Amino acid sequence: MEPERLTYAQNVRGFLPPDEGDVLYRAASHLEVPGPLLEIGSYCGKSAIYLGTAAQEQGRILYALDHHRGSEENQHGWEHHDPDLVDHELGKLDTLPTFRRAVHDADLESVVVAIVGHSVQVAQHWDTDLAFLFIDGGHGIQPAQDDYTWWVPKVQVGGFLAIHDVFPDPADGGRPPYECIYLPAMSSGNWIEEKTQGSLRILRRIS
Ligand code: MG
Repeated sequence: MEPERLTYAQNVRGFLPPDEGDVLYRAASHLEVPGPLLEIGSYCGKSAIYLGTAAQEQGRILYALDHHRGSEENQHGWEHHDPDLVDHELGKLDTLPTFRRAVHDADLESVVVAIVGHSVQVAQHWDTDLAFLFIDGGHGIQPAQDDYTWWVPKVQVGGFLAIHDVFPDPADGGRPPYECIYLPAMSSGNWIEEKTQGSLRILRRIS
């Protein structure tokens, strides 16, 4: 990635550390199967800049799926709440304007396509095989189970699944991405682990 874009990505608001962003970008940069990339949980666009850059370099599209009302931990009174992101007229979080601005300023509007909605509602009508899926959406049990059930099978053999916030040790963080996405994928026999960086896991589909 060119240095200017890298610096830009690192400065976009979000929860993906630079070393994990780098691994995410690299994993998405050499895809061998056709199809688009899709991320669940775009928030303010940080991962979309890393993945969008990888998509752009390969002439692919990144679909960036988020309802843009924030996850549980982003709501008022929670650990990751950011009052700047509240639509004060509605009294609700709205990360879409910040996301759009980030994608615009990175000059990625022709590559990154926002899908504003809930994961399962979109998945129910989504038939396109994916080359790369990044799951960083709702971190509760139900959203994690839903993302596994609905989206993981859409990655084609030879494609990649990246999962964020995987914490095998409960002392490090919440369990659902580990218990409801990572473990079922690994025990299915369809995936092998390619790379670990912090709480990021990169799996490749082998069958
Ligand atoms: Mg995350």
